[in-house]
Amino acid sequence: MGSNSRIRILRRAAAERQEWNCYYCSFPMWEGDPAVFKTRYSLTSREVRRFRCTAKHLKARCDGGRDIEENIVAACHYCNRTRHRKKRPKDADSYASFVRSRIEKGRWHPVRLRDQKS
Ligand SMILES: [Zn+2]
Repeated sequence: MGSNSRIRILRRAAAERQEWNCYYCSFPMWEGDPAVFKTRYSLTSREVRRFRCTAKHLKARCDGGRDIEENIVAACHYCNRTRHRKKRPKDADSYASFVRSRIEKGRWHPVRLRDQKS
């Protein structure tokens, strides 16, 4: 089994465990076809992309993190990508609290989705 299909299986397992909510922001995520998600939350094509489900290594590969279930969580594309934009990415826990503080200030995801979620 190739590394990519293994990651796909681990990602799906993690997403199921998290009930398809992002590990960091707890917003819902989609996989495969974005159409249903897009309609449900009335998002634009651009907005819907940030909620695509991606696999995240809690401990990065370059730090010796392995492709095993315990090390993989599911995160939305936006949280995943934003974490790696930093010059020195935060560890998973401090990044999660960073994301939560931004959400409380209403400065993370489009407002419409948050309003409809509750
Ligand atoms: Zn997220």
